[in-house]
Amino acid sequence: MTGQDLSTHVGLVTGASRGIGAAIALMLAEAGAAVAVNYRERAADAEAIVAEIEAKGGRAIAVAADVSHAAAVTGMVQQVSAALGPIDILINNAGIAIVRGVDDLTEDDFDRTIAVNLKSAFLCTQAVLPAMRARKWGRIVNISSGAARGAGAIGVHYNASKAGMEGLTRGYAARLVKEGITVNAVAPSLIATDMMGGRTDLARNIPLGRMGEAKEVAQAVAMVLGNSYMTGQTIVLNGGMAFI
Ligand code: NAP
Repeated sequence: MTGQDLSTHVGLVTGASRGIGAAIALMLAEAGAAVAVNYRERAADAEAIVAEIEAKGGRAIAVAADVSHAAAVTGMVQQVSAALGPIDILINNAGIAIVRGVDDLTEDDFDRTIAVNLKSAFLCTQAVLPAMRARKWGRIVNISSGAARGAGAIGVHYNASKAGMEGLTRGYAARLVKEGITVNAVAPSLIATDMMGGRTDLARNIPLGRMGEAKEVAQAVAMVLGNSYMTGQTIVLNGGMAFI
């Protein structure tokens, strides 16, 4: 898919048991990287992605961790580094989308969303930075959303988590640029995964006339990985939707 050679690299994809994360894990493996497939609870799904990678001759492990918890992230990074080597590609993809109207949103919904969608990216970035700095090479890609800048279909908590992720992206990018580490975001909208719960009706809002595919998000991530000069940017893919 990418034409890139990532065979000397180790990638960690959070939330890679299904959906967009799984497609990114498969893309990384196809480009030759060793891949850690993180998941929260669906071990069988994660193991199936690992098996698919291994069947094609790649190296991969599945690693359980709730990435909203610092101790779990530390343990995950230690486990991956021991099994595959130091991580120099991090894809912060794990996320949740609790659909709530303004009047129904609870404090717990808000806190959980910020912890899983935003704090996790901070925790994982901090945990992999020492290895990237030692190598003077790193790629961090944060999976944001059109909801960082548009209304979106989930709720204000989700908007805030994804806008925060883009702030994190630019902040880290500015501070790490001299160390060979790029930090970018990819912001898709309306990708057909479990998260969208079969909402194919939403396709009528998309000028292209269909929802996006997870592998199309993986293609955008691949573009970012191959570019040393681009950092602090957000790549948007949304089938031609304009923000209102
Ligand atoms: P999905 O199909 O619901 O998959 C979510 C993945 O995240 C699963 O692998 C899940 O693991 C994992 N996960 C959830 N909470 C976690 C936690 N606390 N720790 C570790 N892993 C966790 O979602 P998706 O549609 O592929 O979305 C992936 C990312 O893209 C999310 O950040 C989402 O916000 C973003 N995004 C999606 C869309 C879209 O239209 N689908 C649009 C814009 C942005 P388990 O399988 O073990 O539960």
